Amino acid sequence: MTPEPDRYAVIGHPIAHSRSPWIHARFAQQTGQHLSYSAIDAAPAELAARVREFFARDGRGLNVTVPHKQAVLELVERMSERARIAGAVNTLVREDDDRLYGDNTDGVGFTRDLTCNLGVNIAGLGVLLLGAGGAARGLLAPLLSLAPRELVIANRSSARALELAHLFAAHGPVRGAAFGELGTQRFELIINATAAGLTDQLPPLPLTVLQAAEICYDLAYAPGTTRFVQWARESGVARCFTGAGMLVEQAAESFLLWRGIRPQTSAVIAALAA
Ligand code: NDP
Repeated sequence: MTPEPDRYAVIGHPIAHSRSPWIHARFAQQTGQHLSYSAIDAAPAELAARVREFFARDGRGLNVTVPHKQAVLELVERMSERARIAGAVNTLVREDDDRLYGDNTDGVGFTRDLTCNLGVNIAGLGVLLLGAGGAARGLLAPLLSLAPRELVIANRSSARALELAHLFAAHGPVRGAAFGELGTQRFELIINATAAGLTDQLPPLPLTVLQAAEICYDLAYAPGTTRFVQWARESGVARCFTGAGMLVEQAAESFLLWRGIRPQTSAVIAALAA
């Protein structure tokens, strides 16, 4: 008799849009791993109960997405250095002694896509990071390690941007700002790490700042393109990317953590983008 597959899932709210089950099914097929991967919708008040229930029923690992990446820190018993620095967790692993281990694969997924897949060299660039939530936190240390000229975090609630910049000051030249303070400053690379796209909105970025950029990367993913990428293209930004590559790369890092094998990503990124 075939044993039951090992169980994995992604937990978030909303979750219907998630492509993680599709990506992990491809990884499992490609590597011959016997596992299942589902999606769990959990509102913030239900997060702890749903995570505990999943692992109590023999779940092996979870991905954690919007808006739970910081709240889930309360539930982990051990965490990686990169998750500790980010202050956000996107991957949970049930260890052999049943303790919960938290990691953050967003940063490595993002830099791998941007630098290895897309060939962007961040050294010396002025970088504008929009958003100060769980995803932005995961990106900061890996981005600063690539030696940008300056990194500015702009957030709707500017206090969060200032706080985040203060927290990461030891990692490199970073400062926080409100969207309204960006003025006419020039950034070669703009990264959208806001959740605005989830409600079909755009972040309040001044058009002049967008028009002066050379590269835009939207962490969000949508079939075809995203509203932010479309806006950037129409504003004349030469190189615009959605988060499809990051989504697959961070998933591959989670898969490696769970199964000890790193799947090939290029064909999965191409299939997702198509
Ligand atoms: P969080 O809920 O933790 O943070 C949301 C952030 O977006 C906050 O900074 C919030 O600002 C800002 N925001 C929300 N709505 C708006 C709006 N209408 N205008 C301007 N700012 C807004 O979410 P995450 O950080 O986890 O995720 C952010 C995005 O990144 C999501 O779209 C998610 O899908 C994507 N993502 C993609 C990944 C990939 O692999 N491609 C991986 C991880 C995330 P405020 O503080 O003022 O509320």
